[in-house]
Amino acid sequence: MRNSIKYLERIQRIDLETKGIEEEERSYIQKIERLGAEIEAAKKAAEALGQEAEAIKALIKGSDEKIRESAERAGKDEKKMSDVKNDRELSALTKEINAANKTKKQNEQEKAAHAQKLDDKNAALKAAEDTVAGKTAEVESLKSELEAKKAEWKETLVKKDEEKTSLKANVRPEVFKKYETIRARRGGLALALIKNETCQGCYIHIPPQVYIQLKRGTEELMTCPHCHRILYVESQGELEAI
Ligand SMILES: [Zn+2]
Repeated sequence: MRNSIKYLERIQRIDLETKGIEEEERSYIQKIERLGAEIEAAKKAAEALGQEAEAIKALIKGSDEKIRESAERAGKDEKKMSDVKNDRELSALTKEINAANKTKKQNEQEKAAHAQKLDDKNAALKAAEDTVAGKTAEVESLKSELEAKKAEWKETLVKKDEEKTSLKANVRPEVFKKYETIRARRGGLALALIKNETCQGCYIHIPPQVYIQLKRGTEELMTCPHCHRILYVESQGELEAI
């Protein structure tokens, strides 16, 4: 069993390295997916902002038209001034001119307010477009990084797999099967070291006799009564590594 443990320890190291590679790849893919979703959201926002900007432009066009109309009205009235025959007509015409000028001013204020809104929309639109461009560049660089790493990982994984296969030959099949079962159930960690009479897999205290038995060297496979991981002691690995 001591021998099996020694090889299992090395197998576990390989398995953890493999798991690390798989996790790194997953993290790349998740980042790329998250950025993809953010790009889509920014594109949608840009599209909505573009439509809102167009609507404001139409309002500005309407204001321009109203300004032109009231200016034309005031101009026509002013031309009539020379034909005024009495005070009553003068007073009526002055009133009209004042009203036209007032309307023109109101329309100009309205236009200025629209123009301000348009500036704001355009700034937001620019920000959304910048976000799309920035995140797209980020995704592209992550994708090429991932491709380069994939080639590297593939090579490493083939080597690790070969290593594991050759190590496996030194472990009793039923022990190896047990190792793989626990590994699948326990987040990739099937073998746990005992330190200070505590299982380093679940950090729960284990009965002293288990520790003593392992220290002494046993042919029995000892497992943690709490997390069921295969237990081993430091000196055991050290001694056998020599
Ligand atoms: Zn445990």
